[in-house]
Amino acid sequence: MWQNPDQGSTNQQTVTNHSESVKESLQDKEKPNEKDSNQSETNTTNSKSDEEPDKKSNSLSDLKVHYIDVEQADATLFQYKSNGEQYTILFDTGDWQGNEVANYLSAQGVSAIDVLIVSHADADHSGQLAEVMNTFDVGEVWMSGNESSSQTFQQGMKAVLASDAGYDEPRTGDTFEIGTMDITVLHPGSISGNTNEESISAKFTYGDVSFLFTGDAGRDSEMEMLNSGNNVNADIVQLGHHGSNTSSNPAFIDAVSPEVAIYSAGADNQYGHPHAEVVSLIQNAGIKLFGTDVHGTIVVTTDGNDYSIQTKDDGTISPSSSSSSDNSSSNDKNESTENKASTGDCININKASSEKLQEIIHIGPARSEDLIKLRPYQSVSDLTDVSGIGPSRISDIKSQGLACTGG
Ligand SMILES: [Zn+2]
Repeated sequence: MWQNPDQGSTNQQTVTNHSESVKESLQDKEKPNEKDSNQSETNTTNSKSDEEPDKKSNSLSDLKVHYIDVEQADATLFQYKSNGEQYTILFDTGDWQGNEVANYLSAQGVSAIDVLIVSHADADHSGQLAEVMNTFDVGEVWMSGNESSSQTFQQGMKAVLASDAGYDEPRTGDTFEIGTMDITVLHPGSISGNTNEESISAKFTYGDVSFLFTGDAGRDSEMEMLNSGNNVNADIVQLGHHGSNTSSNPAFIDAVSPEVAIYSAGADNQYGHPHAEVVSLIQNAGIKLFGTDVHGTIVVTTDGNDYSIQTKDDGTISPSSSSSSDNSSSNDKNESTENKASTGDCININKASSEKLQEIIHIGPARSEDLIKLRPYQSVSDLTDVSGIGPSRISDIKSQGLACTGG
């Protein structure tokens, strides 16, 4: 576990490292462009004006929550002003194969990040951590404390340790006030090395409008959150684990009772995310559904009272839209998706699906999942990072000649 001097010391915290230098650099730079012509389409507007007027929300400036299209990965940017100062929060940093996150933030005028939250160590959430750390002035980094031996995560941690950023491992029930944003941590209560399940999960409350993020936490974790006594109710939920059916327990979704659900997933991804049963669950409950695979980057704008949603692309999500065009079923093992991940007879260990990887000798279902988590690999010999694979199995894998990297 990374050392965390503040851990457990206090339950209510105010982020105070919004430093003078950061403030000055923010005042010097141009304001982020409020209107983006690529995101002009308004899909939905919600009014809460018939509810009790809230003193706090009456004086709030606009918050923009950008669910950035990072394909089969997660990255969400929060931008708002509080008492004239710009605040920026980033939840997850995209996939290791891309560099969209820093580019997107720069395009939004970001130069400093107050809080950077990495829900968990997997390479589709911590993927661009190193680049983000090296590009922006980061005030604090929050992580679950579970580590990964992947090069992506190790490089990200090196960048965190080399920076001036503070470090925290928030736990269930911790609350933070970051300018006019309140954050309640809903998970994990403690860690045991279960990376996905122990994703940092948090509710962001801005005036009367709240946003829930659970990373890749699964159904059991959702039930823990539900039973923890914390209020999980939120207006806008990000569906857990890219819309997988291993998350979005119906009882949890019922308790969150969102008006809008958003998932982040890549088009035609090898996992079949979002799963049809999750899409059906959300749509049958009358919850509006958006996904980055269909809509591209999705931006929610709110003054803490009303909110509107702009998407880069127009589209409709149906329970079968995530699977193959042969519309036979929502089967996530379809041939065409698998074939995209391999080239000829060579199985690219950095891209192939779990099923495809199992054609490699010594790789079964569990090991293929481990293998995917530890991506990327520079060479086939790096597969020794995967538990249970040693030099003699590497030599078998090389003799078989199926596994490759790149091309
Ligand atoms: Zn993920």
